[in-house]
Amino acid sequence: MPAYNKIKKYFLKELQHVNKYFSKYKWRLLIGIIMTILSKILALKVPQIVGDSLNIVEEYLNDEITDISLVKQELMINVLIIIGVTILAGLFTFLMRQTIIVTSRLIEFDLKNEIYQQYQKLSLNFYKKNRTGDLMNRISEDVSKVRMYTGPAIMYTLTMSVTLIVGFTQMISIDTKLTLYTLIPFPLLSISIFVLSKIIHKRSTIVQEYLSKLTTFNQEFFSGVNVVKSYGIEASIIENFDELADKSKEKNIHLQKANALFFPLMVLLIGISNIIVIYVGGQQYINDEIKIGVIIEFMLYVNILTWPVAVVGWVTSMVQQAEASQARINEFLKQVPEIQNTNTTATEIKGNITFKNVSFTYDDTNITALKDINFSVKAGETLAIFGKTGSGKSTLIELISRLYDTKIGSILLDNKPIQEANLDAVRSQIGFVPQDPFLFSESISDNIKFGKDDATKKEIIAAAKNADVHKNIVDFPNGYNTILGERGVTLSGGQKQRVSIARAIIKEPKILIFDDCLSAVDTETEEKILKNLALISKNITTFIIGHRISSAKNADKIIVLDDGKIIQQGTHNQLIKEKGYYKELYDQQLLEKEI
Ligand code: ADP
Ligand code: MG
Repeated sequence: MPAYNKIKKYFLKELQHVNKYFSKYKWRLLIGIIMTILSKILALKVPQIVGDSLNIVEEYLNDEITDISLVKQELMINVLIIIGVTILAGLFTFLMRQTIIVTSRLIEFDLKNEIYQQYQKLSLNFYKKNRTGDLMNRISEDVSKVRMYTGPAIMYTLTMSVTLIVGFTQMISIDTKLTLYTLIPFPLLSISIFVLSKIIHKRSTIVQEYLSKLTTFNQEFFSGVNVVKSYGIEASIIENFDELADKSKEKNIHLQKANALFFPLMVLLIGISNIIVIYVGGQQYINDEIKIGVIIEFMLYVNILTWPVAVVGWVTSMVQQAEASQARINEFLKQVPEIQNTNTTATEIKGNITFKNVSFTYDDTNITALKDINFSVKAGETLAIFGKTGSGKSTLIELISRLYDTKIGSILLDNKPIQEANLDAVRSQIGFVPQDPFLFSESISDNIKFGKDDATKKEIIAAAKNADVHKNIVDFPNGYNTILGERGVTLSGGQKQRVSIARAIIKEPKILIFDDCLSAVDTETEEKILKNLALISKNITTFIIGHRISSAKNADKIIVLDDGKIIQQGTHNQLIKEKGYYKELYDQQLLEKEI
């Protein structure tokens, strides 16, 4: 047993991950195994009965039995037995599939859920490092390869073992010499199917690659269709597509050639076995070593045994693929989310935020986006953050939402390190409007409700009014039930931002963060939103990233970032008296207003 475990460990190291699911469904599997054994034992009864029937006829012809009615009666009984046994075997085969294949579907479902939950836990950095296609593939393609192991591979291995053991014993008990001759082509069959499966697998991987290339190509084309049209480059796109499609077709034909060999190869080897049975068996019959029924019986065995033997190679290749797929899945499952929740008790958040000597460097680009940042905001205050693009504004507020954790300096939430607060509490009490808001392809009201699952109609409308988007929404024929297209294409940039603002407001968060989200609305709308905000955000700590002085005028504090450092800090009245970025911006916008 230890040796067996060692071998198993070596070969199917990765697939051991699914063992926990096998034990979860062990009763179902056990019933499946019993059904398999019963169905195969029954199916292997048929050749025996056929052989017996022929022997009876032969005995009658040789005058060993003289009563024809006795022969007829025997034959009739045999026919009935064959029908009964076949029906029963069919029933058990049905039940075998119902248990084993259904189990594999259940395991597939569990595994997909496991991966999906892991996806939800992983941090932003993980998503930057892995392509979307890869993430999708692991949860669909790879899982279905693993399913082949948990279902069909097990079923075929069982069928094969039972059929081989029972069939072989029955054959040996009749005639050893004929059995050995008959089985000569079988190893050959198994090996050649194995080799063929390998070739088919290799070629189908290439076909898959081309398929995903084609999909990616088209996806990009559909997303960028307005660029393609406005630049008039349809012809070259078509050319590129044709080239790709041609290659894909070639690879498919290449694959089909290998596929087409599968059955002829099987038929050829069955044929060879049958010829051997007839030739060797015939000679034995002539020499009076066996009865005529044995030949027929053996030919039937050959037919029943061929499929399981052919399947050995197929199953081996199936298990190897499953192992490789599970390895890829495990790679994701093993990843420890970078952002950890260390506190499981719910934390009440007041909204005091302090940055102490915070620096932050992005892992992947090695860009130090924040350098020695110090500031503090009291609960209920408003902080405006200004600075050129790339100065680190978004990074700063992403640290507050714990989308990333910093290693240098500390961020305090209500005077305690932010890592000590319950992560879900932090996230659920922050209303975050990102720079580039994302709306789901659902109704507007669902998109707003995203911030608060149980929001009432009244609350939704109130939030939309505060975000100054209510008027736009009721202008749509379906109002709040208007379904947004993929990425919300039916809304303008400004409308999207305002829906996204409504989504943040409805949460009634303790901390509200606006990342440059007023840039796509006109000054007048901005003023309205800011006025509404001033009313509702009295007790909310608010961070506003902006470019317009208007968003900073009423802030309790303003910080100006440049290249990751705070270069100015103070109130509006202080900063307009100070030479620097803020004053320049102020003068410039004053001038624009006058013009
Ligand atoms: P802002 O919001 O002020 O425009 P950001 O905080 O987005 O500035 O960016 C600050 C710096 O960090 C930039 O140099 C930018 O290239 C870099 N940066 C921003 N986001 C990422 C990211 N996700 N990964 C790596 N580098 C980033
Ligand atoms: Mg930004």
